[in-house]
Amino acid sequence: MTSYLLERAWVDGAVHDDVLVDVVDGRFARVVRENRPSSGVATPDNGRSPRPAGDSATPTRVPGISLPGLANTHSHAFHRALRGRTQRGTGTFWTWREQMYAVAARLDPDSYRRLARAAYREMVAAGCTSVGEFHYLHHQPDGTPYDDPDAMGAALRQAAAEAGIRLVLLDTCYLSSGFGAPPEGVQVRYSDGTAERWAERVERAGSGPAAIHSVRAVPRDQLHVFRDRSPLHVHLSEQVAENDACLAAYGVTPTRLLHEEGLLGPATTVVHATHLTDDDIELLGRTRTNVCVTPTTERDLADGIGPVRRLHDAGCRISVGSDSHAVVDPWEELRAVELDERLATQRRGHWTAAELLDVGTAHGVLGLDDVGTIAVGKRADLVTLDPTTPRTAGTGADEHTAVFAATASDVVRVMVDGVVVHTPGDAEQIGRELDEAVGALWGTPGRTPGRTPWPAP
Ligand SMILES: [Zn+2]
Repeated sequence: MTSYLLERAWVDGAVHDDVLVDVVDGRFARVVRENRPSSGVATPDNGRSPRPAGDSATPTRVPGISLPGLANTHSHAFHRALRGRTQRGTGTFWTWREQMYAVAARLDPDSYRRLARAAYREMVAAGCTSVGEFHYLHHQPDGTPYDDPDAMGAALRQAAAEAGIRLVLLDTCYLSSGFGAPPEGVQVRYSDGTAERWAERVERAGSGPAAIHSVRAVPRDQLHVFRDRSPLHVHLSEQVAENDACLAAYGVTPTRLLHEEGLLGPATTVVHATHLTDDDIELLGRTRTNVCVTPTTERDLADGIGPVRRLHDAGCRISVGSDSHAVVDPWEELRAVELDERLATQRRGHWTAAELLDVGTAHGVLGLDDVGTIAVGKRADLVTLDPTTPRTAGTGADEHTAVFAATASDVVRVMVDGVVVHTPGDAEQIGRELDEAVGALWGTPGRTPGRTPWPAP
């Protein structure tokens, strides 16, 4: 057993001082907070010290604000190689996609593992303890399966294990470049040919979670293959062009198509949900379908602003993802949920900080129902923020600090399943790994190993 005394911690919907947690076998075995008895949380006998009498072990003190680990519910690890290189110039989502495909064409299992490991380490350092990897880069450049058909998925699993992040590999079916059109160019790396063959490969890899890339990438008559998958994720209505093409092909919106095929519900997460009709919102809410939004990616790709609060009020559970990794900062994603709504409505105050922390800890949409709260029996994930940095100082050291002030740079400690996987001293090495992994893909050597230290000696 390991014990920690958390200086401040988010427990039962509020920040409390001096919270004692015991961790046994990667789970919280006890959560004790001072002076605030409530169901499920023990109260110390003396009313002052959080350490019950008779227990002589000395807990490790953790300064700062500790929160449950955050969930990054939508990632494409290899997109990390695009940051800073594709934001420049003009264009649309579709011109960005051409640049993304150029990187996809160069990866092999080894370079994929190195890039993903560095990207996952950046996520951990930002406070994410689980990641949903929407994985569609399956085959060799000419579309031939690797000798191990799961070689690319295995690369991601190894990368996550090395980075210390909990991975939910959402093996993604991608069969078509558009409604009725065969895969083009690098898309042959994504395609298994048919949904049945996708299922055969996934079964061989022993993986349950799944994803449909989008309704444009899987023909309607093959969608039934995904009915019993859980969790099931799917890109939905990120672009108006997808809606228009779906209406032309099937006479219904992408949301209604998924509904008619029996694919909406609490095990399903739709990603983006940017351009929806009133009927779409009602359908998603009534079926209790989850919605993942990726605000920093959606702004980078000029997607638009989705009706996130309306979806929440209709009954959808909301989560956030870093998606293209133009930014990896879950705190920024969370406040963007509120700030984008302000831009769209010209009014302030749509989400409370507590609601946004619920959004940030929605591990359940990845099928992880035992992660996301500091409570007895839950997995022992903790992310700790420093409330004394230039960004966070003077902001109250509470949930508003986390949601409206903190950045990834203010994370000082991350624990996953009771194991500390990140401390500030890791930052330089993560930067070096990213530089080398991304530089190798673009044919430019990493610059970090020989760089002049800063400040210059
Ligand atoms: Zn995506």
